[in-house]
Amino acid sequence: MSGAIETPQVLLAHHLKALKLPTFLREYAKVAAECAKDRADHPKFLLRLAELELLDRERRLVERRIRAAHFPAVKSLDTFDFTAIPSLNKMLVLDLARCDYINAHDNIIALGNSGTGKTHVALALGLAACQRGLSVGFMTAAGLVHQLMEARDERRLLRLQAQLASLKLLIIDELGYVPLSQTGAELLFEVFSQRHERGSTIVTSNLPFEDWTSVFGAERLTGALLDRLTHHVQILEMNGESYRLKQSRARRRKGIEKAGDDLPHDPETGEINDS
Ligand code: ADP
Ligand code: MG
Repeated sequence: MSGAIETPQVLLAHHLKALKLPTFLREYAKVAAECAKDRADHPKFLLRLAELELLDRERRLVERRIRAAHFPAVKSLDTFDFTAIPSLNKMLVLDLARCDYINAHDNIIALGNSGTGKTHVALALGLAACQRGLSVGFMTAAGLVHQLMEARDERRLLRLQAQLASLKLLIIDELGYVPLSQTGAELLFEVFSQRHERGSTIVTSNLPFEDWTSVFGAERLTGALLDRLTHHVQILEMNGESYRLKQSRARRRKGIEKAGDDLPHDPETGEINDS
């Protein structure tokens, strides 16, 4: 007679799968046992299951967003040392991590020399957006232009443009490292144009605005681009000493100090007696 007992469970499993409630399916027996023990009634049983399903669903969405963003590395602001870059407004960055600028369709431009944490901050803001369930894309400027050219050659440019325009946040890293061809510059300009007031874009660049013409080639195009990009913009000033350089210098200094430990010290001043 076990067949008759199993039937509702088999059917339930089928229905829960059709309704896309995997956590309900996985947890209902366990939660039912807990509820029996706690003498919790049916609404409480259903509430516990619904809460588990919602939490799982949020977690799955965030994971999907992070995978779809194609971050080269997952970095957060927790591991960012703000004291290393005094030119950067810490309060502004922490505020941006709340992602309100994305709902306002504002842009962010991080400017500064190499190694000052521009990519790190852009990745952290991208992660924060994913954690709020927002769609994010991360690309280098050169990579994006390459993709656009390839899509154009394969006659799927419109589809790629629509995908890029639909992202809540597009991060374009390293604008200015490589000069663009005229077609490349125009395709990139179109991306900015199509996102204008529809979504947010973060751009990182080692070039000050005055030098952007050298990347885009044409002065008119650069003007129009800056016009769109800086319409609603937060600028992150990130000029300073390269973090990597500073780290390796600090390591080297530590190494010298450590080596110094082996030399005879003056017991009073702590200075090394190398005479
Ligand atoms: P940029 O994009 O400005 O050239 P990156 O963001 O790539 O610089 O930073 C270079 C490396 O140093 C990365 O590994 C980054 O995580 C690290 N880094 C840079 N600035 C900081 C900082 N202030 N705190 C912690 N790590 C940092
Ligand atoms: Mg970088």
